[in-house]
Amino acid sequence: MAQLRLCGLEKRFANGATVVQGVDLQVDDGEFMVLVGPSGCGKSTTLRMVAGLEAPSGGQIFIGGREVTQQPPAERGVAMVFQSYALYPHMTVAENMGFGLRMAGQPRAVVEQAVHQAARTLQLHTLLQRKPRELSGGQRQRVAIGRAIVRQPGVFLFDEPLSNLDAALRTQMRLELSRLHERLRATIVYVTHDQVEAMTLGQRIAVFNQGRIEQVGTPLQLYDRPVNRFVAGFLGSPRMNFLPARALPGDMGWSLDLGAAGRLPWLPAAGLDAGAIAEIGVRPEHLALQPHAAPGGLAAEVELVEHLGDVVLVHCRLPGVDGSVTLKCAPEQGAALLRDEAVRIAPRQLLLFDAQGRCLHA
Ligand code: ADP
Ligand code: MG
Repeated sequence: MAQLRLCGLEKRFANGATVVQGVDLQVDDGEFMVLVGPSGCGKSTTLRMVAGLEAPSGGQIFIGGREVTQQPPAERGVAMVFQSYALYPHMTVAENMGFGLRMAGQPRAVVEQAVHQAARTLQLHTLLQRKPRELSGGQRQRVAIGRAIVRQPGVFLFDEPLSNLDAALRTQMRLELSRLHERLRATIVYVTHDQVEAMTLGQRIAVFNQGRIEQVGTPLQLYDRPVNRFVAGFLGSPRMNFLPARALPGDMGWSLDLGAAGRLPWLPAAGLDAGAIAEIGVRPEHLALQPHAAPGGLAAEVELVEHLGDVVLVHCRLPGVDGSVTLKCAPEQGAALLRDEAVRIAPRQLLLFDAQGRCLHA
């Protein structure tokens, strides 16, 4: 396995659009790195440049300490798995999996041995003589992964490999991919637009936005300490609530003023510039319903209650605030709530952002 390093990677297409801009990223030997971001932010283009399928307009790519920026794909020691499995329909599973090795001129016995070993790892050994059309979507995806495994690449590149599968199968394949990574100790770069996949699969995650990396870190680092509004809003479902606010000094200490919705008591942290605060960010699970008698909190009106079984999502409107605010609570709390009911809500935990969307804690 190998380390991967991207230095100032750029891609400008012939039509003039710069879709990858100055990407610096190090993926350690054996690490599972997820590139996540909204559609069109440059994830696939970045991966294709690593694979050698797209020439960078600038910057360098190193694999295992060796610069490969100008190397042809076959000499980079990478294997890519695509969303559209890209299997040969007229070949059996075994022939599909062994194709790369056969093309590289490996003897028949070596190819067979590699295919059988990969098939056992992926539980495909009973399907080796089938054609792709005789397989389910999940099995086809496993064959595509098997084809990558037999080549024993230094780095595996996955581009949205689970997007064509139904929800239940995606969950199962996520588990299988995690196990596979554990067994192979492989260096993996995995592209997805799905933040749940990113959070569950990645040892580290790089969040992409408009061709740039916003932040790199472990799933919980990004969840708990996002550097900006984009990362904070992208990870988490339902997404973080953002509310305009400013810090006000008073006789009783500081507070965060949310206009007509009310004020929240606030203790400024050392070194934090209270004047820079423009917005607060609160995750739905960090918003609590105040018992009716309790003072404080923010005035809100219940707009919609969604019962998901294990949790209840309460969508509220706050006076003077655009859009709705979502709160996640336990079923016993949400059961009694009625539409148009006036409630009070209070954050148990919040983040502060400046006018440029930078998080003031990070
Ligand atoms: P993602 O995988 O994050 O959804 P892509 O890397 O596929 O995004 O694409 C990033 C941007 O580059 C998109 O705006 C896309 O339209 C553009 N793009 C991709 N391939 C080409 C190309 N061959 N020529 C011009 N623009 C392209
Ligand atoms: Mg893509």
